[in-house]
Amino acid sequence: MQNNDFMIKQNNGVKYYISRSLERLGFVKHFFSTRIGGVSEVPFDSLNLGIYTEDKYENINKNYSRIFEAADMDGQNMVYLRQVHGDCFYIVNDDNRKEIIGKDGDALITTSKNIPIGVMTADCIPVIIVDSLKRAAAVVHAGWKGTHLHIVDKVVRYMMDNLGARAEYITAVVGPGIGPCCFEVKEDVAEKFTFVEKRNCSYFVDLWQENKKQLINLGVRNIIHEPLCTICMEDNFFSYRRDGKITGRMATFIEIT
Ligand SMILES: [Zn+2]
Repeated sequence: MQNNDFMIKQNNGVKYYISRSLERLGFVKHFFSTRIGGVSEVPFDSLNLGIYTEDKYENINKNYSRIFEAADMDGQNMVYLRQVHGDCFYIVNDDNRKEIIGKDGDALITTSKNIPIGVMTADCIPVIIVDSLKRAAAVVHAGWKGTHLHIVDKVVRYMMDNLGARAEYITAVVGPGIGPCCFEVKEDVAEKFTFVEKRNCSYFVDLWQENKKQLINLGVRNIIHEPLCTICMEDNFFSYRRDGKITGRMATFIEIT
């Protein structure tokens, strides 16, 4: 586990995070966006990257241009899904990338260059997984349902079994999401998890630890995580739980260059 790996970047007013460890690999570009630096208006202010939100289409489009430009990435070939809190994922390449856009699913994997793959979140946990042996990258949307369905475990297993990835070559980055400070759940949800704290008759689940555990159980040791809570950090992040249903989304994208 490494601390202080995340770096805040600010470019043309657009604020985002990157992982130094991923950057050091030298063959990927990526970002974890914040809500800062976009053109959307309240309640989507301002860098709303939620393609399936009710924000104005042209604003979402402009926001995507802004973040991709800030992160020095080309969004033209980007692929994303209509996320459904399940455990389905797709392997993206040049031939199928257009038809995968908008399919129901919660994770994407690629070994192809210049195809940014991404997920949109506002409390759920975004996870990036990169294997430097086979130069494979994946991005996962893991809310409590996806975490309970072991989507991170399934994606990494797929990369190992089918793409030749190996645990010792994997770097995994667990991104900003709802922290154990704020993720209060009812008992029926709490009992599905291991990392649960009971505070004054309420249950709080640590989705970060749950996802890290899935990685550790597969032998992944190079796990990057900084505890950036989307509820606590209101100036930085949208939060579905804090702001209500009508709010923006951050995005997490990675591409092999
Ligand atoms: Zn919090």
